[in-house]
Amino acid sequence: LIVNAVPMQSKPGVADQVLLVLHDITEHKRNEERQKEFLANVSHELRTPLSIFRGYVETLLNGSSALAPEEVQRVLKILRRHSLRLSKLVNDLLTLSALEPDRMSLERSPVSLPHFLRRIESDLRQPLQEKRIGIEIDLPQNLPKIDADPFRLEQVFYNLVENAIQYSEPGSPIRIRARPEGNLVSIQVIDQGVGISPRDLPHVFERFYRVDKTRSREAGGTGLGLSIVQRIVDLHHGRVQIASEPGKGTTVTVLLPAWSATLPAGASAGQRT
Ligand code: ADP
Repeated sequence: LIVNAVPMQSKPGVADQVLLVLHDITEHKRNEERQKEFLANVSHELRTPLSIFRGYVETLLNGSSALAPEEVQRVLKILRRHSLRLSKLVNDLLTLSALEPDRMSLERSPVSLPHFLRRIESDLRQPLQEKRIGIEIDLPQNLPKIDADPFRLEQVFYNLVENAIQYSEPGSPIRIRARPEGNLVSIQVIDQGVGISPRDLPHVFERFYRVDKTRSREAGGTGLGLSIVQRIVDLHHGRVQIASEPGKGTTVTVLLPAWSATLPAGASAGQRT
């Protein structure tokens, strides 16, 4: 709390009153703290792969003549993996910053889910095939289109399906199920993977929160995927929920407005907010 005291005069020359102005800066302080913590996290996340990088480069420099070609190959592959992770981290950070509400404008249009989800599946063909994971897409005939920015929506479902792949055993199936729900459409990404403990579950939407840092890092995770999902869904005035049982699997439910539900007669997509 900041208190400013200003002397006041009821008669000229007689300062017989004091005006007290109280500023509650709790929220301001909290934002500052959050910002500091975020920067500390970013630095840590950048420093870790860079120091691993430097270590391996030293190994190559000092011992390149003595190292077997397979060993050199192995080190180069590690370096490639860490450089990919670093660029993913930078991309995720840029995405988060572009999603700040004051900078963000959504370009909404009617999105047809059957077509959209098949495209996501085909874009993720490589990681799906690598783990022999199939996606079952379960949609009813009469599903309304959704009112969303297709580019941002892609980011949501890439993140969710990539997580489902990443945290599932090879061969374990993924299901995407959508149903109309009042003026909304509910879309669920359901996996039968490792699941998340009740202790960690409330935190997974926080930036940089990872249940198993090593596993996530090894797999190229940044801990930013679900915060990006949350931010994008919020911007659409939708909701995202997660349910999980360790050892059984995880279901992420995204609720987004159906197209016809929010379109006033005669309005064009550009008029939406
Ligand atoms: P990451 O880049 O680490 O995947 P996310 O923000 O996408 O970051 O997810 C945060 C954490 O939540 C992950 O590190 C993981 O521990 C957990 N998580 C997310 N999705 C799943 C899932 N489908 N199954 C199990 N754990 C998950």
